[in-house]
Amino acid sequence: MILVLDDGLDAEAVTRAEEAVRRAGGDPRRLTAEGGRLALEATGVTLDGSPAYRRVAKRADEGTHVVHVRGVAIGGPTLVLMAGPCAVEHEAQLEDSARAAVQAGARLLRGGAFKPRTSPYSFQGLGDLGLRLLRQAADRHDLAVVTEVLEPGAVGAVAEYADMLQIGSRNMQNSALLRAVGRQSRPVLLKRGMSATLEEWLLAAEYIADAGNENIVLCERGVRTFDTASRNLLDLAAVPLLRERTRLPIAVDPSHGVGVRSAILPMALAAVAAGADAIMVECHPDPGTARSDGFQALTPDELIHLGARLRAVAAVVGR
Ligand code: PEP
Ligand code: MN
Repeated sequence: MILVLDDGLDAEAVTRAEEAVRRAGGDPRRLTAEGGRLALEATGVTLDGSPAYRRVAKRADEGTHVVHVRGVAIGGPTLVLMAGPCAVEHEAQLEDSARAAVQAGARLLRGGAFKPRTSPYSFQGLGDLGLRLLRQAADRHDLAVVTEVLEPGAVGAVAEYADMLQIGSRNMQNSALLRAVGRQSRPVLLKRGMSATLEEWLLAAEYIADAGNENIVLCERGVRTFDTASRNLLDLAAVPLLRERTRLPIAVDPSHGVGVRSAILPMALAAVAAGADAIMVECHPDPGTARSDGFQALTPDELIHLGARLRAVAAVVGR
């Protein structure tokens, strides 16, 4: 245990007191709560050696915290598939996507109404109309909706239509947005920042939990790589490494994680074998005409095939 405390607190005295309380069978964390807070602020290390992301950290006496999204349990015994287009474009596109999603066994329909595009000249999404189309398509097919929210001021409006709010890779460290989704009750899908360490990602989740909402699912979506053969490097080791550190369920998005259509199915299967609780994939009825990420969109037939293969691997790993 290393202690670096602010002025006025004697680290050795705190340690001595801690030991005395421990010998007496008490909980030293209670005695040193103030010392602990200051140590955490100053060093990022808690007094008792536990991680700073204390609300989302794994707990010795508990399994994965199950997150319920409109009756769908993520983090429970059953693998969950989320599927849909990158961006909501029009009603027929969503209808075809939703139908394929259901046939693939998906329980959540994804689709961006507000798109965080790299270029300001790329399609930015349909906005409010996109939210309405998404909700209507999901309702027709009894699917839950997960969609991205880009700014704190829009959280209320997006939450009216969505069952789960997505925080995208580009916003993983937007603390104002993290707090805003933490102050409301819809579950949150927190994607990994494209250059974020696991610790930074878990601390981002901690912002949401600390603001009041512990219903968070982490979503691995690949990190930056030197290699241009893939869009990102899908970090599947993150799944078991997170499992050791956090109580939150873990999803994997091989679509953004690899960005190469042919590699999405094998990496989705590998993610299930690695222990993922949920898989998110993009699809489009006609990928060649997609306004966003068409190159990585699965066709309806490919999505349905992926769903069947996922179930086979899930059964082998006991889900
Ligand atoms: C998305 O899922 O629509 C998306 C934009 O992904 P990411 O934030 O992981 O890039
Ligand atoms: Mn996309």
